[in-house]
Amino acid sequence: MFQCHVCGSKQARQDFITQIFLLDDKPVIVHDIPAEICVRCGESVFDISTMEKIRRMVHGEAVPVKSVVTEVFEFAQSSQRNPANLRESAVQNL
Ligand SMILES: [Zn+2]
Repeated sequence: MFQCHVCGSKQARQDFITQIFLLDDKPVIVHDIPAEICVRCGESVFDISTMEKIRRMVHGEAVPVKSVVTEVFEFAQSSQRNPANLRESAVQNL
């Protein structure tokens, strides 16, 4: 049964989401991932078999439908950053 790991809500809806993953520091975009979306906070979750399928796809089992050039911005200059304060990125490594 669904329980949101962010807000604890037990209500979810099924939908398809787009998510960015990091593959050896290179961002890859996966569209139309079936997921459960928390109705309260919008957190999305997909199951382990979906995660495994995504991993296999981006590691060469599937051919990308297209490539895009991505612009990268740095909010803080590296001299201002304290590595101890860095929080984990929202982007998942694969
Ligand atoms: Zn939630």
